[in-house]
Amino acid sequence: MKVGVLALQGDVREHISSLIACGVDPSTVRRASELDQVDALVLPGGESTTIAQLAEVFGIYSQIKNRIAVGMPIYGSCAGMILLADEILDAKQGQKSFGGLDITVRRNAFGRQVDSFESDIPFADGSSDLIRAVFIRAPWVERVGEGVEVLATVDTHPVAVRSRTLFATSFHPELTADHRIHRYFIEEVARPALEKVK
Ligand code: GLN
Repeated sequence: MKVGVLALQGDVREHISSLIACGVDPSTVRRASELDQVDALVLPGGESTTIAQLAEVFGIYSQIKNRIAVGMPIYGSCAGMILLADEILDAKQGQKSFGGLDITVRRNAFGRQVDSFESDIPFADGSSDLIRAVFIRAPWVERVGEGVEVLATVDTHPVAVRSRTLFATSFHPELTADHRIHRYFIEEVARPALEKVK
């Protein structure tokens, strides 16, 4: 399986390291030809408006939307979650997302209380072990559409969600040494989806 990390802005290197730790050989994606070569994609944490704008500048904005529409497995962390959301609250004027995930997110939602924090939270992948979740000016999910599974919450706010091939977390597992979230994406989201296509 070829996994790419959208490398326009954000913590690309950290996602690359986490993916390598999960046994995949990731590549960076900036251009259309590079996106063509990957089966699955990670949208890193960073600044969602900047990433969306750069995707347009690099000419891959529509191509990413098209790949989402045909079922490409994608994992978005933090800014990446915002980029997958169909609806954004507290968006910058004119802010665009790729969309595809039927959720409403509020940008910088925790930021109004505390800018950044870490918490050990349950993650619904069948293990009862808690995961360390790092939140940095993180969004939370205010609405989930039909068919969207909530995999983790903080104070009743969903912070990890999945719908078919799209998976997103408000937090940054790429900043920890725990690779469970990336492994979940590879083994539970991407691999089954790609095997079905074969
Ligand atoms: N607040 C950022 C945004 O709106 C996301 C923060 C992050 O990715 N750590 O894009």
